Amino acid sequence: MDRLEKRAYAKVNITLDVLGRRDDGYHLVQMIMHSVGLYDVLTFERIPDGEGKIYLSAKNPDELDSLVTMDEKNLIYRAAAMLYEAYGIKDSVKIVLEKNIPVAAGLAGGSTDAAAAFKGINELFGLDIPIYELCNFGAKLGADIPYCIQGGTMLSEGIGEILTKLPDFPKAYFVLAKPECAVSTAEVYRGIDAYDIKEHERPLTQGILDVLYDLEENSDDPELDMSDDALDIIGECMANVLELVTVPIHPEIGKIKDIMTENGAVRAMMSGSGPTVFGIFRDVETAKAAGAAVTESGLAKNVYVLD
Ligand code: ATP
Repeated sequence: MDRLEKRAYAKVNITLDVLGRRDDGYHLVQMIMHSVGLYDVLTFERIPDGEGKIYLSAKNPDELDSLVTMDEKNLIYRAAAMLYEAYGIKDSVKIVLEKNIPVAAGLAGGSTDAAAAFKGINELFGLDIPIYELCNFGAKLGADIPYCIQGGTMLSEGIGEILTKLPDFPKAYFVLAKPECAVSTAEVYRGIDAYDIKEHERPLTQGILDVLYDLEENSDDPELDMSDDALDIIGECMANVLELVTVPIHPEIGKIKDIMTENGAVRAMMSGSGPTVFGIFRDVETAKAAGAAVTESGLAKNVYVLD
């Protein structure tokens, strides 16, 4: 194959709990991750020149956030370089990134691009690396990359490397809104270390797992369509403990949540270490209206209505 295209999907955290910290400083987490319909597009082209070079460029360079540099620091480049070195790839590759996911937003934009790069290079050069092996490479580059390689709805534990595939999430629409404020993931995690998390501030992760497995078990029985109830229960069980750090510092996060809730969200919450807020909606019309209300408030420039 000489050319191929990969979509790199953003994720939201349906839950995010911090359970402890390892001696090496890594946080022990428990998170339910879910892919949403906002994606970057990576195209890969094989150049049969025997030079083994990686050329990375942006499709929309004028719109690119200055935090993302198209050089050896980019996670796409680093992922490709890892496979080039491990497999001695001889030909060059031209990778073009169409960046749509907001940067440093809590949506795993960099990790998902890296995941797409691992998969793209694997396919383009016919390396036949099994998924678990790609995940091992990914884990060396970033804790969320093994999840992004697989995508969908997953429980992520340990430092993010212990992954369990979960049944499909019930049908829902997502509104994402990224306020302009910048948050540093490292600082947010440092902040949560100093905070004594109370039990009622944590997500009820097991409650959500029970709902998802129940839904799966009854999926063949149309009389038992529990999706509506399921979303309500999921909404009640959701929480992200990192909001305890970010919301007091950036009140706009709390305000966007309120606007989404007032406009019909089953639940609105911050994703990852923020600052993006997402709301879960039952129908697309309500989701669009809530998105419009957030835009109208002027609290977020980037607002997306997705499924
Ligand atoms: P997470 O949810 O995993 O914390 P995030 O959405 O907060 O991720 P990213 O968009 O992944 O944050 O960006 C974090 C940093 O990663 C950026 O500041 C940027 O310098 C660096 N980076 C490297 N490669 C990329 C890439 N392909 N896309 C975005 N950021 C990248």
